Amino acid sequence: MRRQRPTLIAVSTLIAITLTTAAPTPANAAPPDQVTALTAHQADGYTTLAWQPVDGATDYQIERTPVDANGTPTGAPTIVGIWRPNRQINQQAPTFADAGYNPGDTFQWRVRARNGTTEQPYSDPVTATTTAPWGNPTTPGEQLRTGWETTHAAQYTSDTDEYAYTAAIDALSDRVRVVELGRTVQNRPINMMVIGHPTPATTPEAVAATAPVAINCNVHGNEPGDREACLIMARQLAFSTDPRITDLLSHTTVLIVPTINGDGRANNTRGNSTGQDLNRDYSLIRQPETTAYIKMVRDYRPVAGYDGHEFGNSRAGDLPMLPPRHQNVAQPIFDQSQDMIEGHMYAKGAEAGWWACPYGCEGGGNVGLSEETILRNTLGLKNVTNSLLELRSSGGQTRPDEGNTANNRRRKTYSALWTFHQFLDYHRADRADILKARSEAIESQAGNTGRLVFRGSRPIPAHPAPHPGDSPPPLDAPPADLILDNPPCAYKLTDAQYNGARTDGPGGVGTTVAQRIAAHGWNVITIGDDHYVPLNQPERGLIPLLLDGKGVEKLTDGERVYPTLTGRRNGPLAVTGFTCADDATINGPVTVRAGAALVTTATTISGPLTATGAAGVLLADSTINGPARIATTDTISIIDATIAGPVDLSGNTTGTDAPVLAGTTIRGPLNCTGNDPTPTNLGITNTVHGPRTTQCAAL
Ligand SMILES: [Zn+2]
Repeated sequence: MRRQRPTLIAVSTLIAITLTTAAPTPANAAPPDQVTALTAHQADGYTTLAWQPVDGATDYQIERTPVDANGTPTGAPTIVGIWRPNRQINQQAPTFADAGYNPGDTFQWRVRARNGTTEQPYSDPVTATTTAPWGNPTTPGEQLRTGWETTHAAQYTSDTDEYAYTAAIDALSDRVRVVELGRTVQNRPINMMVIGHPTPATTPEAVAATAPVAINCNVHGNEPGDREACLIMARQLAFSTDPRITDLLSHTTVLIVPTINGDGRANNTRGNSTGQDLNRDYSLIRQPETTAYIKMVRDYRPVAGYDGHEFGNSRAGDLPMLPPRHQNVAQPIFDQSQDMIEGHMYAKGAEAGWWACPYGCEGGGNVGLSEETILRNTLGLKNVTNSLLELRSSGGQTRPDEGNTANNRRRKTYSALWTFHQFLDYHRADRADILKARSEAIESQAGNTGRLVFRGSRPIPAHPAPHPGDSPPPLDAPPADLILDNPPCAYKLTDAQYNGARTDGPGGVGTTVAQRIAAHGWNVITIGDDHYVPLNQPERGLIPLLLDGKGVEKLTDGERVYPTLTGRRNGPLAVTGFTCADDATINGPVTVRAGAALVTTATTISGPLTATGAAGVLLADSTINGPARIATTDTISIIDATIAGPVDLSGNTTGTDAPVLAGTTIRGPLNCTGNDPTPTNLGITNTVHGPRTTQCAAL
């Protein structure tokens, strides 16, 4: 019932008094300021309580009482939640996700409003049995439980329990394949569950074609709440017959990495066994754990991701989130990530009762900045729509019952489980937009236009109004000395820089720059003893952060190489050495000589392009008004180009990096034969007006 204005109360009271002798007030009429219409909706590990708001209420208290099957209390009532107006974006339909109980038990809930410290009457009670842990205890597969579940959240699932549990899911479900991505410093396996319906695609390239999603569950070993959610969700995805689940898994592949930091988890430390914070290493990949994850991103090409953490600010929301903010992240990826967080998670959180907010909300401190070493930013720079998730590690004033350790852990884990399911739903509903953002991002990155920023974030708005006292996450705008307005075409590395021994890994033995660049999946052109990393590539925003002298956390000081070919040029052109064309118009045939390389952006070539035995041909945002023939060349990338055709890619051996032909229009036939590996389109389809041969038939 709405609280009435004092004058109206006076009038209604007068009427009530006048009518008392004739008609008594109905016994079931709620007093003013009593919460009404309380409902309790059950979900996995939590209960959504919803009620009619009371005008003038400053907050609400949520009371929970354990009861038996007859509804008789078996324990004391406890205030388990405080709803405050900063919880959700829709104040007219208050909801609260109550978690922190043993799933399957039966409870009675009541809710009351408070005006300041003045408590109003409790609502009528609602009694319900909560949802038991997912999976029929007698059905094979479904009956599996994690160590955390069987100990009623008294213990986290151990490393050996995790391996046994994931192996059992793998053995019992056709939908799941467990692959080992690598090993930790202490030789623990880093496993990934590859989940699809009816079976997951069999190779990384085939998985990539399904626009997969990736959840990184536990990078900080002492933040284990998300990992337990991942393990429970894996069981649901593996065995559920819910049409929603089978539909989700029929339209993508879910990649779950429960524990990238197995050593840190086993020892309950933030860093790995060397003390390295792995979430400050995803760009540098000094450690085997981060290297394994980045190689996975290269090979499986997830289009969207979540990265699970816990955070110690007890005043912040249940679920602080944050998109990739680094200013080198392509705008469409930033926008899509914000759409996922603000457009989906905030709205769905207000329905389910979970308090999603920007990481850094409620005085969250100097967190969530632009370091490209953080997975959130690394993934954004790899054109992956993604978010950080920070489970609030302690209950705080809004969850006063969570001095109980098990209850606190349950709230964290089941709020993460909710988030990850919502993430899958978002991908299912917005897949086309996610893929469009990715395509636009890759094309704009490969175009190599605009300034480069070495450190600096985009601003993030505060949680939308009404949110009293809320402030936006801190902003680390780029300082002038970390901005490069005129981007180079490429970085040139000496052989010592590229292949030289390093000491920045575990035990003082690091992998080479060449190995790390290969793990990132960047194209490199080698001419003699020089190694060129062109910027007209999909990860253009990340390359300078590692290879430019201005890089704050860089691998080496590469030499900036600027274009030598610009403006108009008439007559045949024979390319020798490393030649870079930008904003050029070349009227005449172009031949890339054996051992030479051509890199173009915003360039038009009028005449055939021929390269035989070349070191590399990388074209982006360019036009060839004639045929193109590229054979026995070491490095090939054609992105967002228009070629009159025919195009012939034959007999190219490009090592670990497949020839790229993406987002390109060919007004003629496309012939691809004898290339090793087979060309890829990075998930961006080409338009080919003529016939295509086998290796390029699906591009
Ligand atoms: Zn963390």
